Amino acid sequence: KKTITRLPEWLKTPIPVNQNYKKIKNDLRGLNLHTVCEEARCPNISDCWGGSSKNAATATIMLMGDTCTRGCRFCSVKTSKAPPPLDPHEPENTAEALKRWGLGYVVLTSVDRDDLADGGARHFAETIMKIKQKAPTMLVEALTGDYAGDLEMVRLVALSGLDVYAHNIETVEELTPFVRDRRAKFRQSLEVLRAAKESRPELITKTSMMLGLGETEEQIWDALRELRKNNVDVVTFGQYMRPTKRHMAVHSYVTPDAFELWRQRALDMGFLYCASGPLVRSSYKAGEAFIENVLK
Ligand code: SF4
Ligand code: SF4
Repeated sequence: KKTITRLPEWLKTPIPVNQNYKKIKNDLRGLNLHTVCEEARCPNISDCWGGSSKNAATATIMLMGDTCTRGCRFCSVKTSKAPPPLDPHEPENTAEALKRWGLGYVVLTSVDRDDLADGGARHFAETIMKIKQKAPTMLVEALTGDYAGDLEMVRLVALSGLDVYAHNIETVEELTPFVRDRRAKFRQSLEVLRAAKESRPELITKTSMMLGLGETEEQIWDALRELRKNNVDVVTFGQYMRPTKRHMAVHSYVTPDAFELWRQRALDMGFLYCASGPLVRSSYKAGEAFIENVLK
């Protein structure tokens, strides 16, 4: 089996730090929020937290604990069949902390909670409603799991007042069984995105794919066509990076030019916007992109 260990030059660039970023980082102290940006040591933190203005500053917050009931082969989050119970104060506390933090755009995400009857959908929706009450101008994106295909739960979250509903297909259909947890299905993920859009057509729907897992160009085209058929508005592409040796190997490092080509192709197919690059993650500069493409 092919294993690549050397990083190409474009993944070794130093991380620039801007002033807006430093301010937001200081403001975060004492708020007791867990950002994916910090915990995953995301290389984009300065770009996202900095933003082009405070309104565009974006951060990703993790809800419902740090332990997932699933085990995807690319993901380093800890897993358990029975994670600790939800914190009933989390929706209120998260909304209060976000209001004080004063970001422009927040991405809320969570582990998958197959142990809960509603998959945590009510908790998620309550958090969004509380944020919109306390900080009405804050833009909210929810990046959810598939609720095991329970579309009622998808609708519940989609109708909670959020601005963007994101759910990641992660990879092409053919590689899904080898990349994602066995309970995740490509077609089920398309249904999630379709149900979110149908429940509120003005809602922006979004998905993300990792490249470098061994997918072919034709398979990527197929995935994009399926997304458009289901009226998905936004797609992002990033390089798969192996978190540890126990995770799936990287099949290839996709060049910055190839990422740019996919961005152009996605726009030509009618996606509203597309972030695509080696270091792009689904939430990469999401605030800036939303302001430039949706609020314009
Ligand atoms: Fe945070 Fe996502 Fe930006 Fe990384 S890409 S810094 S996780 S908002
Ligand atoms: Fe990681 Fe999400 Fe898969 Fe859980 S469902 S293992 S958090 S990618």
